[in-house]
Amino acid sequence: MMSLDVEKTAAPAPLGKPVAVVTPGLLSDLARFGATDVSACFSCGTCTAVCPLVDNDATFPRRIIRYGQLGLRDELLSSKELWTCYHCGLCTESCPQSADPAQYMAAARRYAIAGYDRTRLARTLYTHPVVGAGVATVLAGVFALFLYAFHGERSTTSFQLFRFIPEGVVHWTGVAVMVLVALAALSGIVTMVAGIARKEGVAWRDVWGRVGRGHGWSAVWSAGAVESLGQRRYREDCAEAQTDREPLYRRRWFIHAMTMWGFTGLLLATMSDYALSVVGLRRTGTPEPIWYPVRLLGTVAGVMLVYGVTLMLVNRLGHLNRASRESAASDWLFLTLLWVVAVSGFLVELSLYVGTAPAWGYWIFLFHVSVALDLLVLLPFMKFAHALYRPVALFFHSLASQSTRVTTDA
Ligand code: SF4
Ligand code: SF4
Repeated sequence: MMSLDVEKTAAPAPLGKPVAVVTPGLLSDLARFGATDVSACFSCGTCTAVCPLVDNDATFPRRIIRYGQLGLRDELLSSKELWTCYHCGLCTESCPQSADPAQYMAAARRYAIAGYDRTRLARTLYTHPVVGAGVATVLAGVFALFLYAFHGERSTTSFQLFRFIPEGVVHWTGVAVMVLVALAALSGIVTMVAGIARKEGVAWRDVWGRVGRGHGWSAVWSAGAVESLGQRRYREDCAEAQTDREPLYRRRWFIHAMTMWGFTGLLLATMSDYALSVVGLRRTGTPEPIWYPVRLLGTVAGVMLVYGVTLMLVNRLGHLNRASRESAASDWLFLTLLWVVAVSGFLVELSLYVGTAPAWGYWIFLFHVSVALDLLVLLPFMKFAHALYRPVALFFHSLASQSTRVTTDA
């Protein structure tokens, strides 16, 4: 058993006994991230009985609620199970205490994103939405002014985006932003993994040992391809709660998949476009036929992204499902920025094909790049961060279940 200790006044633990530090006021802090009052939960286990993702864990999801009730912040932040939940809402519908565990789990994930972030920007975005919107606006304005400071001519005879804003400036600003974002993401992932490893009692050599025995690669495949890109659990296990009587194009998993696949496709198209220009196979910022592979990938991915994000926004505006009714202000900011970037990207593409070189095309281009950089900076601090943390948690989840299977078989 763990011993409990109050934060800041922790006495040395007896040898061999891990200390669980108590954070007073954890529940009220979680409430700032949108958690409902779960103090009425008496751990009856009904939510466990109905949750499609229990995986023989008789304590999920009520253990996560218990951490909140007891103020066990570190335990909460190092729970890989937190990320297996897809907010289907079955637990909330069956809870006899109206504790709304589904919403609590969503808020706990927001709290975890803020907890892994050392800059406290995520906490600000989640708990001070007006300040967050102000930060996003100012940042986009700074990027626009910075890029414009390098502006060149706006040709009216042919559309030359990179004669207006030099390609090198756009490229190197993007690289600098991506390095910062990668460092922020890596720092969050390391914090999360260190917490999980400590909680599970896993040493790195154990992880490498399991990788060496082949478990690691199948865990990577399961977490990355099957669960994250393929959305298996979202599609299958949560189907019962996901209004599966809805047509495919309105199901939650499908809208989520469209958004994720569209985002990934656009990222691939942008990187491929640049790589082709580096090896001299094409000039970026100039028109290409729609069937040109990279252009086609970008266009299809853009359509998917606009579809997914638009449906998410419409669902939220119309309060059409549980997740949309309970979304945080920061989620709105993320989706709005994503939608603006995707739609302005299409307008830039349109301006490349209108024959002449419209002046608005240049300004939309400047706007698009500025907001895209703004979004890029904020990604690890908003809802998007779950795309970083969920696969890592699922990797450990898969690794643990494989080890359990091997032990049981042995
Ligand atoms: S069903 Fe409600 S009261 Fe019962 S354990 Fe789950 S959250 Fe707690
Ligand atoms: S929201 Fe769904 S997946 Fe998440 S804990 Fe509740 S029943 Fe399980």
